[in-house]
Amino acid sequence: MLAMTVACTSVGGSSLPSGVAGSSTTTTASDRSTEVTDTVTASGAPAASSAPAASRAAAASRSPAAPSSTTVDRSSSTAPSTPTDGPPSPSPSTTAQDRTSGAVGATGIGDEYYPASGNGGYDVAGYQVDLRYRPESNALTATTTVTATVTAAEGLQRFNFDLQPTMKVRAVLVNAVPARFARADAELVVTPAAPLPPGSVFTAVVTYAGAPAVVPGGTSGLGDGGWYRTKSGGAVVAGEPFSASAWYPVNEHPSDPARFTVTATVPEKWKVMAGGLEQTTGLPAAPAGTKVFRWVQDIPIASYLTTLYIDTFTVKTSKLADGTPVVSAVAPGDTEDVALHEITPRVIAVLSKYFGKYPFKAVGGIYTNENIPFALETATRPVYGNWVDPDTVVHELSHQWYGDDVTVRRWADICLNECFASYAPWLWHAEIDKADLDARWRTEMQRADADPSFWRSPLVDMGAGHEFTAVYSRGPLALHALRHQMGDAKFLELLKKWPATYGGRNPTFEDLESMASELAGKDLKPFFQVWFRGTEPPAKSDYPPGLR
Ligand SMILES: [Zn+2]
Repeated sequence: MLAMTVACTSVGGSSLPSGVAGSSTTTTASDRSTEVTDTVTASGAPAASSAPAASRAAAASRSPAAPSSTTVDRSSSTAPSTPTDGPPSPSPSTTAQDRTSGAVGATGIGDEYYPASGNGGYDVAGYQVDLRYRPESNALTATTTVTATVTAAEGLQRFNFDLQPTMKVRAVLVNAVPARFARADAELVVTPAAPLPPGSVFTAVVTYAGAPAVVPGGTSGLGDGGWYRTKSGGAVVAGEPFSASAWYPVNEHPSDPARFTVTATVPEKWKVMAGGLEQTTGLPAAPAGTKVFRWVQDIPIASYLTTLYIDTFTVKTSKLADGTPVVSAVAPGDTEDVALHEITPRVIAVLSKYFGKYPFKAVGGIYTNENIPFALETATRPVYGNWVDPDTVVHELSHQWYGDDVTVRRWADICLNECFASYAPWLWHAEIDKADLDARWRTEMQRADADPSFWRSPLVDMGAGHEFTAVYSRGPLALHALRHQMGDAKFLELLKKWPATYGGRNPTFEDLESMASELAGKDLKPFFQVWFRGTEPPAKSDYPPGLR
């Protein structure tokens, strides 16, 4: 994720390296310090002109000490015992006594920042979303099949999915048997006809319909996440930490990554793109006047990394050197972003040099023409607003390693994603225009020293609603300091070893501290305390050798 505006830790203007040598792209109006300034966008458009969420976010993030007022209260902590929407479910066929065995799955997965996020008692292996959408009326009807394993030691007599109340549930089947269900705000509470034994694999098929919408405050103070409508009448889904529950029932937390397939039927003037690889054979027959699209992401990803783009976009394709398909959507009327699609193989080549082999089977971008207040690293195919520039593409594609392949276990550790993705443009500029990174570091440190608020927000455990603030500005400074502290060779080894070790897993920030210390051959905890966890400017004596 990268905000169009991040206001809380402004370091003012900048003369840092920018632009892309050898690229025809002309969208580098300012430079990446716009990430940490108030109102400048890369396209020069007023930041808040058509994005009220952005101004709300800016207001919220200017007071880092206070919890964000835009943090969404996603559900109540208790679930009603009777269905509150949709037609009554058929009665379960088993007895009441049967239903009393097994645990009640928790309403949240245990993230201290978002207690209602995710759910307890099971682990999802895959989602299959089959939907029909009419952009003209914003009408979605869908059936989502969730395949999961019961993790509760006592089995499950009841469990939850996250699903926004705009989606009205019509029926739930668990293992092909009708189940009872109830709604409590953004929770869908499912009571299977029979308890689910511990360790068993089950399928839940949820049929629902509604008018999908954004989730208010769904991006931790950076605006709404979820189902956006586009200028041309289409739709695009993006948001972190919440967006998936806007359109399918989900265990909405990054600690439960899963495979994801979406099959979408739309009126034939529209196209559909999502993450992963497009499947064009074996599709269901399209009703008259419609077309069917299917996208398959068969490497597990966090739910906020799933997306869907329905519009009259242009499809651009190419290949990486190893044959990996590069497939992008460019919004109607957005011709200038074709150049960003075209630099993608070079970006991946540079990032692979630092991070190791590209972890997914496809790559590309969804270049919208919208004033979405953030860009998001949706897996294989990030979603961009109309203010995108090359450094934004570098940032989001670097997340494919740092964030998408290696996924956070808790939102408090978001620096594992954002600090590295914010350092990636430094690496990119060192490659493409031989940028002097030490000089850049010194320039930014001078600005930071002139701003008393700069060091106030730590990079780890920054507080709910403040995840997407200091990581963008302070994060790269801390990582460049770490590079000098470890020595170049060891740091570069760390950049590759992290995804190689934790790809497909959910490590914590402590795991990073341990790996860095191990590679450096010394305990770096004191260094991390000052540069990542501290809330005071580092003393000159804390500067690593070479940067003093
Ligand atoms: Zn990011």
